[in-house]
Amino acid sequence: MGNEKEAFVHIQNLRKRILEHDEKYYKLANPIISDQAYDQLKKELEELELTFDPLGLFPSKQESKDYIKSPDVGDDRLESFSSHRHLNPMLSLDNTYDRNDFFDFDKRLRKIFESSSLPYVVEPKIDGVAISLTFKNGIMTRAVTRGNGIEGDDVTKNLLHIRNIPTDLSSFPLPEILEIRGEIYMSHEEFERINKEREKAGLPLFANPRNLAAGTVKLLDPKEARKRKLEVVLYGLGGCEPSNYFSLQSQFHESLKNWGVPVVEFFQSVSSAEEAWQSITMLDNVRHEYAYPTDGAVIKLNSIEMQKKAGSTSKAPRWAIAYKFESERQSTLLEDIIMQVGRTGTITPVACLRPVQLAGTTVSRASLHNADEIQRKDIRIGDRVIVEKAGEIIPQVIEVEKQYRNQETTSFIFPKFCPTCQSSLVRSEGEAAWRCPSSACPDQTKARLQYFASRNCMDIDHLGEAVVEQLVERNLVCRISDLYKLTTEKILQLDGFAHKSAQNLIHSIVQSKDRELWRLLCGLGIKHVGTAAAKDLSNKFLSLQALTESSRQELIEIDGVGDTMAESIFNFFREEENVLMINELIRLGLKTNYDLSTAKSSYLSGKTFVLTGSLVSHTREKASEIIESLGGKVSASVSSKTSYLVAGPGAGSKLQKAKSIGVEILSEEELLKLINN
Ligand SMILES: [Zn+2]
Repeated sequence: MGNEKEAFVHIQNLRKRILEHDEKYYKLANPIISDQAYDQLKKELEELELTFDPLGLFPSKQESKDYIKSPDVGDDRLESFSSHRHLNPMLSLDNTYDRNDFFDFDKRLRKIFESSSLPYVVEPKIDGVAISLTFKNGIMTRAVTRGNGIEGDDVTKNLLHIRNIPTDLSSFPLPEILEIRGEIYMSHEEFERINKEREKAGLPLFANPRNLAAGTVKLLDPKEARKRKLEVVLYGLGGCEPSNYFSLQSQFHESLKNWGVPVVEFFQSVSSAEEAWQSITMLDNVRHEYAYPTDGAVIKLNSIEMQKKAGSTSKAPRWAIAYKFESERQSTLLEDIIMQVGRTGTITPVACLRPVQLAGTTVSRASLHNADEIQRKDIRIGDRVIVEKAGEIIPQVIEVEKQYRNQETTSFIFPKFCPTCQSSLVRSEGEAAWRCPSSACPDQTKARLQYFASRNCMDIDHLGEAVVEQLVERNLVCRISDLYKLTTEKILQLDGFAHKSAQNLIHSIVQSKDRELWRLLCGLGIKHVGTAAAKDLSNKFLSLQALTESSRQELIEIDGVGDTMAESIFNFFREEENVLMINELIRLGLKTNYDLSTAKSSYLSGKTFVLTGSLVSHTREKASEIIESLGGKVSASVSSKTSYLVAGPGAGSKLQKAKSIGVEILSEEELLKLINN
């Protein structure tokens, strides 16, 4: 790129693209390119700016109204939250995938300090949502997002329910005012739990834990936010009064540990860049075992005075750098795109790939999400594509390697008809997915039956995928209730069945008639209703009959049921097809009542609970009632006879006592789990 005019156009383009991606990443928590591709764009822009626009503006161009300012720190602020100014700016770090950049960083600093080697600390780079917690005399007063680096959104309300967030450092001496920086994240486990629930409820899956955590932090409904378990890990020092309270980053880290707040497991003090590099390599080997997603290492000058002396550019501190590890990605051939029909009729395009090794597994399929995604990325059959298995989760097609594209390929045309039943596909306004509208669609029937029989629903043995397939293809079963009309003779028509195995299957099906009500409710496959909601509904309505007659209002009033779910349940029981099926299930003798005798069981008998602090989902009275209904005892004070102390926010002396005599402590969430088991 020789001349300034060309460079200007190119720089403008890059800035525009980066701003668009920033918007998607920071505000909508829904990026459309990989981190690595994004970092590449930023790097390209930086290099051009350095040559052509070092002051961040083209002198001759900045008057023009379409001049685009160089993007600085991504801005996550939303109008719905109030802004709060950080005591010390909260900058993001310069980052690199290149080992040489790291050593250049060290060289620059050594020049400033005229030293042959410098002491650093090495920490993991956590791929979460940056947060700043303000403590006044040890009490947390505020949680604020990074925002634009100067001021961020006050999200205190959405974070207070986080189990491991420290609200009281309760240890002295302490600085008067202290900003602790850290990261909110969602564990892989929780991410998978939520996606499994969504899969069961027939909803589109979330792409990765980082975006889901970011979305949850900014949820406008704190009640909804509480349902997703977030965690926090703290590592950074923001503003502090008195400002010379800490002299070393390692000392600050020790203090965090002493205060008992969640800290990173990996923290090493080193005395040179070479040692830091060894430490970085070591981190890459162990980081996959951490509960939080990591994507690199952060290297900081250990001395806080030296940090101050090195200072910052407008975008990033000069005393720290992030070295990012390459994510697990591979290039491979996209051999075909096939359509999967889900049990609610949702059509999911799936990429069939030439098998590649990724993160220790062979990957041959990747979800393409929906028609828009294929169009946006212009994915074609026969393309070479980059596949990524980020954070050991669902493989994704990141981008097409267009430079290898065969000229004969053509744009992918999304089918207009269901691949199995040939119905015209439909798409409701505002939805990304196309659906097959026919409830008689064999693929949907198969998926519904498999779901009904699955372990989380009716748990019917011997009724696996292959059997379901045959039952549907031979027209032996068209709807769920048909299962209960099967006979040994009919099963014997299927491949691979002998008299004994046919009897076993029939026996399992008959046995399932007595399953608990929530299992049946879940198995019906009402959109948005997973196991948790099915249990809530069962506890509330006590019979299938009562649930079918419930009003929208009654449904919405249940904790855990939102507008969308209520609407979906209400509509489900008003579809003729479903009404017929349910009547048939009742006639065939399935249990459709909540069995109070087993509910008021005694599986908490002999256990004594003490409740302290404030609880969120129930009042203490209500919680006590539930515990007692399950045979447990609730007592007012902690003693050696106490089995569990349930501690909500604000728990004080009882918590201290329980800790000192070794009573098991439960969070509210853990209590709910125990109750719902
Ligand atoms: Zn169909």
